[in-house]
Amino acid sequence: MFDLNGQVALVTGASRGIGEAGARSLAKYGAKVVLAARSGGDIERIAAEIRDSGGQASAVSCDVADYADVAKAVQHCIDTFGGIDILVNNAGVIEPISRIETSDPKAWGNVIDINVKGVYHGIRAVAPHMLEKGAGTIVNISSGAAVGALEGWSQYCSSKAAALSLTRCADKEFGDKGLRVVGLSPGTVATQMQVDIKASGINPVSQLDPAVHIPAEWVGEAICWLATDAGDAYRGVDCSLRDEDVRKSVGVI
Ligand code: NAP
Repeated sequence: MFDLNGQVALVTGASRGIGEAGARSLAKYGAKVVLAARSGGDIERIAAEIRDSGGQASAVSCDVADYADVAKAVQHCIDTFGGIDILVNNAGVIEPISRIETSDPKAWGNVIDINVKGVYHGIRAVAPHMLEKGAGTIVNISSGAAVGALEGWSQYCSSKAAALSLTRCADKEFGDKGLRVVGLSPGTVATQMQVDIKASGINPVSQLDPAVHIPAEWVGEAICWLATDAGDAYRGVDCSLRDEDVRKSVGVI
């Protein structure tokens, strides 16, 4: 449905969940995909499965909290597939879920290192290459938590608000230079993260019936849709996959 032939995509947090689904969808539509995450064995396996089904994929272990790792992953795209056209800043964590008064400051900061600095690191590492080319798409995986508040999620809500700010700032800097920077707020998705949220029992999201979560594959399709010209309408803002019109345009309903 979407033509991404010849494009090179880097997906962070591609070892499971939304990142894995995004990598598989991007490859299905013709993109050459580099999967990045800390779990090297999982991304190697998924990349091999994509290759076995006719796609092009490679894996590189990467902790997005470490800029050198992210720069290495971008260089891996260039060395392996000749460039970088699409970056999916997907890697993210929500644990440890805890109220502020009992939260561990070091663990709280770790979420910021991954969810905020990780997104910045990705944008920082691809920007010179995309600016030189005058083209490229950056999709930052956002959340309703970017604009909402929930008990026990101060680390997550703060981090996603900051990531949305990065989407907006990057669009300001690159929007007139051929780069498309968009956010994607998926709604609740059936991944390990929702399993962890349910186990916490802390706020209304943990009480949701798992049947209401959308499949990660829907988000994978939405990522591909945003990497086409359809994404132009969401430059510098979060696109919500809760929106029925968006779901129809993506083709998942
Ligand atoms: P998930 O199943 O827990 O997967 C998280 C992914 O992030 C894993 O592949 C993990 O891989 C990777 N990751 C975590 N820390 C990393 C690090 N330091 N460096 C590199 N990779 C790292 O969660 P998910 O639901 O797919 O979440 C993906 C994104 O969607 C996150 O940004 C999340 O905030 C967002 N989101 C999820 C939902 C939902 O309902 N599930 C809703 C809104 C937004 P390794 O552990 O192998 O590194």
